[in-house]
Amino acid sequence: MINQLVVIGAGPSGIMASISAAKSGKKVLLIDRNKAIGQKLLLAGAGRCNITNNIPIEEFFDKYHNGDFLRNAFYQFSNTDLMNFFSENGLELEIEKGSRVFPVTQSSHDVVKFLRQQLEKHKVQLWFRNRVVGIEKQQNGIFKIITKKAEIFSKSVILATGGKSYPETGSKGDGYKFARSLGHTIIKPVPVLCGINLKENWIRAWQGISLKNVEIKAIVGGKIIGKEFGEAIFTHYGISGPAVLNLSRVIADMKNPSGIKISIDFKPALDEKTLDIRLINEFRKNSNKSLKNIMKNLLPENLIEEFLLMGTLSGNIKGNQITVEQRKIIISLLKNFILTFDSLRGFKEAIVTRGGVSIDEVNPKTMESKIVQGLFFAGEILDVDGKTGGFNLQAAFSTGFVAGKNA
Ligand SMILES: Cc1cc2nc3c(=O)[nH]c(=O)nc-3n(C[C@H](O)[C@H](O)[C@H](O)COP(=O)(O)OP(=O)(O)OC[C@H]3O[C@@H](n4cnc5c(N)ncnc54)[C@H](O)[C@@H]3O)c2cc1C
Repeated sequence: MINQLVVIGAGPSGIMASISAAKSGKKVLLIDRNKAIGQKLLLAGAGRCNITNNIPIEEFFDKYHNGDFLRNAFYQFSNTDLMNFFSENGLELEIEKGSRVFPVTQSSHDVVKFLRQQLEKHKVQLWFRNRVVGIEKQQNGIFKIITKKAEIFSKSVILATGGKSYPETGSKGDGYKFARSLGHTIIKPVPVLCGINLKENWIRAWQGISLKNVEIKAIVGGKIIGKEFGEAIFTHYGISGPAVLNLSRVIADMKNPSGIKISIDFKPALDEKTLDIRLINEFRKNSNKSLKNIMKNLLPENLIEEFLLMGTLSGNIKGNQITVEQRKIIISLLKNFILTFDSLRGFKEAIVTRGGVSIDEVNPKTMESKIVQGLFFAGEILDVDGKTGGFNLQAAFSTGFVAGKNA
């Protein structure tokens, strides 16, 4: 039997591709190695699923590596289209800080359940626990898809096998091998949106401390190569959290990331002069209190000991004993607290993969291969990745929609 369309990978891109193809009248077979759809989607947004972002679609492009490639797909299936797809079919959404869009129920399980219902509604045939191991295009133009269970034949194929990150969810980079065997160039995959290992061993003492509204910079040879504002959290290995994940995207681009300094500005809303005035007031108001106690008004408590150590400041000096020199040290530490980059965390913990199928070889209007007719790509397998905030799922859904419509 020759299938009309086989979609490989039941993540968000493959699911949307299947729905969009079925809606345009095609008979679709969706295959996944896992026992159910959307295993990575279940983890999205820490189990809450940040589906997309509500900023105007014109503002999306610069949130991505290779964002221009997505322009056409986003205009064919925008964030508004995606939100309507969910809400018009019964999954209510809400918008949170940073224009991030979540299901009202705050549960990625509900998103996956919804998508499963949509697949059933549109009569997409599902085949789970079936790992694809190879794809060939035969002389007669039909694709032969070799799986652990069978050989399947199809007129068109959509490769939606994801990247290499969080491999336990099924995305182990298999799709790159298939694409390469069919003649495509694979841009070296690297982990992005991941935490940063720091060289300072004492950082473990700060494990679990979270920071809000800080600015984190990556600096090389005195030059700022990237900066992000937002939340961060110290971990057993170094630092993570949304601002750090986004910063990892510029570091991933560097050929030689040694020598990077990570600078934390604990008070980005205050310039040095304003911060100095604030300190003078704090020390005046609390003239008989110790520095370590006064600092509680400026920093999370468990951070203070190491902070003062870094500036070789005694925590016991009183507010009215602090000299101009010591104030300068405090300001410099608050505005530019320097840590030493060691490396990025690996694929096991990266939220997305940069690299993959070269976008130069894919038609952005259809997601069809420019090399092999009838072969389409969708989602993270492509060399496209976005910031945190719902941008990666939107890219997966939009490219999936376009591939499904055209396959
Ligand atoms: C912890 C975590 C949290 C995240 N949170 C968010 C978030 O809140 N918002 C956001 O926008 N993005 C988020 N992301 C990123 C987002 O989930 C991914 O970018 C998105 O899932 C990519 O979709 P995809 O369909 O391309 O690939 P995947 O979701 O990776 O799906 C690929 C599918 O292909 C299957 N497959 C692979 N190889 C084979 C094979 N050989 N045979 C058969 N099947 C195969 C896999 O089993 C898998 O089901 C998060 C990622 C992680 C890891």
